[in-house]
Order: sequence, then structure tokens, then C-alpha cells
Amino acid sequence: METPTDIKARTSDRTLRVTWQAGHDSTYAFKYLRCHCGCANCVDERTGIRTLKPDDVSEAISIEEMSLVGNYAVQFRWSDSHTTGIYSWDYLLRLCPCDKCGGPKPFDHRLSPLGTK
Ligand SMILES: [Zn+2]
Ligand SMILES: [Zn+2]
Repeated sequence: METPTDIKARTSDRTLRVTWQAGHDSTYAFKYLRCHCGCANCVDERTGIRTLKPDDVSEAISIEEMSLVGNYAVQFRWSDSHTTGIYSWDYLLRLCPCDKCGGPKPFDHRLSPLGTK
């Protein structure tokens, strides 16, 4: 499994920068990450359809705190006081918006690690 060697949240330009073991760098805008939260408050668990809309998330959204979850995920405390989303390394990699990874991912469904549509 890919694990990050470094994770940095930069409030100056509101991006999270993740450096992976394989030498891949991912840069996520805070809003992009927040909009992709996969928790039960943001995604309908039964259908996998996202109930959180990008318009619901402020452009000024910021990460106030992050903590590691075991050795497989990271959890953020967002400035809108949302804390329930857990982003596994696998999920973060799938969300990577760089050209090599196919660009930004759409917001309509949860990207399940199991590949559920
Ligand atoms: Zn959420
Ligand atoms: Zn990438």
C-alpha cells in the first residue's frame, strides 16, 4: 500500500500537499478535499450518492487540525467544524487531481475503495 512520506496543509494558498513513497506529489485544494468527504453526513450510505454539494462549502474553507488515523488514513478538523470525514491513503490517491491521475474527480458520487459506482 502507498503511504505518504509527508503531508502538509498550507493555509496560505489553501492546499494540502501529499508526498508519496513512490515519488508522486499530490496537491489538493482544501475545498476540493472537503467536497470529497466520504462520511455518512456527506454521502448517502445506501446509494453512494453525494448529498454535500460544492456550493455548500465555502471558498474560504480551511483545515484547522489534522490527525493520523492508525497508519492508513488522516482525519481533518475543518473550519466549518466538520470532523467526521476520514481520508485513507488509498482514497487520497484516487482523488489526486494531477494530469497523470486523470485530473480532478467529479463530486457526484463517493469514490469507494471497492470501486462501487
Ligand atoms: Zn463529511
Ligand atoms: Zn497524481
